[in-house]
Amino acid sequence: MSSPREGGCACGAVRYRLTSDPLFVNCCHCLNCQRQTGSAFVINMLIEADRVGLLAGKPQPRDVPRDDGSSQRIFRCPNCQVAVFSEYGRPEVRFVRAGTLDRPSTITPDVHIFTRSKLPWITLPDSVPAFEVYYDTKALWPAASLERLAAIMATGDSDA
Ligand SMILES: [Zn+2]
Ligand SMILES: [Zn+2]
Repeated sequence: MSSPREGGCACGAVRYRLTSDPLFVNCCHCLNCQRQTGSAFVINMLIEADRVGLLAGKPQPRDVPRDDGSSQRIFRCPNCQVAVFSEYGRPEVRFVRAGTLDRPSTITPDVHIFTRSKLPWITLPDSVPAFEVYYDTKALWPAASLERLAAIMATGDSDA
């Protein structure tokens, strides 16, 4: 990694720094993500929660309903309410929204998911795997990322 990626909300109250590359980058075209962002998809950088260093502010959690009856915890700037990251079940893994990076162009999706609800005018590159729904993490993630994931899972289990 050349230099640490930094980002934040619109008003500047929340600033963060990623202390390593993400585990994996999901571009999600599901209807939940479309609704939450008001846009065509979300770009989620999956990364260990302790590798998201907060430089300023304290994002506030808000549980947002999803179509399947579950909820998703989204963390927003308490001032301008921009969503900077979320979590799906496991608090050890953050889904940082790549559009909040200072330089979003430094991130490219590793996979496109939920393409069954992809907006029809979006053309995906042939070079990136794409799935109608989700994918097998073990089959797609690089070995180093799987090792990092196993490490945080082990930590989480010992807490239980
Ligand atoms: Zn803000
Ligand atoms: Zn989604």
